[in-house]
Amino acid sequence: MKKNDDQKSRRVFLKLGGAALASAAVPLMLVSAPASAATNAAMRSALKYQDKPLAEKSCASCLQFVPGASAKGPGTCKVMPGDTEISPQGYCTAWTKKP
Ligand code: SF4
Repeated sequence: MKKNDDQKSRRVFLKLGGAALASAAVPLMLVSAPASAATNAAMRSALKYQDKPLAEKSCASCLQFVPGASAKGPGTCKVMPGDTEISPQGYCTAWTKKP
């Protein structure tokens, strides 16, 4: 009987520990998200921005694109102020071929 009580106590302790870890992780996940992530919805709409290329035209091959920290990660665009979520695979009507 005592052994069962010990096992129950251990299970409760482990469950509470897991819950505590999970609740502690949520704020860390929020803090680790890029603080500057933002989109410029008005400009995206005006320029018909899409997250996929149009044939061979993509943000990665556009003169206006400013790459982000990684080649496949989001960057910025010189004609979309404040937008930090421009996909290298995106496209809009302001596309201008890199020289
Ligand atoms: S102008 Fe358009 S196609 Fe060029 S980088 Fe900006 S969003 Fe992409």
